This record gives sequence, C-alpha cells and structure tokens, in this order.
Amino acid sequence: MTSEELQTFKKQLEDMKASINADVERTLDTLNSQTGNIPDPNDRASMESDLSFELRIRERERKLREKIDEALARISDGSYGTCSDCGQDISLQRLEARPVTELCIDCKTKQEKREKEQGR
Ligand SMILES: [Zn+2]
Repeated sequence: MTSEELQTFKKQLEDMKASINADVERTLDTLNSQTGNIPDPNDRASMESDLSFELRIRERERKLREKIDEALARISDGSYGTCSDCGQDISLQRLEARPVTELCIDCKTKQEKREKEQGR
C-alpha cells in the first residue's frame, strides 16, 4: 500500500471516529434532558424503550470506536492492510468498504462460518 493510500484510510477512520463522538455527545444531552420528571407512566415506558434502543446503538458504536482505534494503531505501526490471521495483504477494495477490518475476505469468511457453527 502506498503512503497516500494509507493517509486516505487514516483520514477516513478519523472522520468515522469524529462522527461517532458527535453522536455520543448528542445522546448524552438527550439522556440528561429526558430522564427528569416524566409523570405519565406510559410516557415513561415508551421513553425508556427509546432510551434502551439508543443505548444499544451506542454500545455498537463504542465497539466500532475500539475497532477504529485499533485500525489507527495498525496504521501507526505499519501493519495496517495486512490480514492478522494469514498475513496476506487485504484487498484495497475490502478496506475501502470496511476500513476497520483486520482480516482478509477469506479469513473473514472462515471466521463467520466458524462462529455460525458454534451458534454464536
Ligand atoms: Zn487472511
């Protein structure tokens, strides 16, 4: 991979992270302003289900953010774009579609198959 390509991925990852951070701040504001006085129990129930939906999304985002940080660390140490399993180069096409990936498509397919067999 050329250093220009690497820089492009770095920028892309940083942008992803910035947009997640902005989103998280918005959620925290919403949580703070909504968890005050809600006298009607029905309103409260629907709001709580909204909140748990929000929190599930946040949990996914938190995991994605960890992956972004790991990808950024791989860019710094020069291992970005190399499959962590078989050591082959990950195709640019795959990285463009999923810049946080650390597995080539073959290993990813195998991993998913394994996880399915284990019923996870
Ligand atoms: Zn691989």
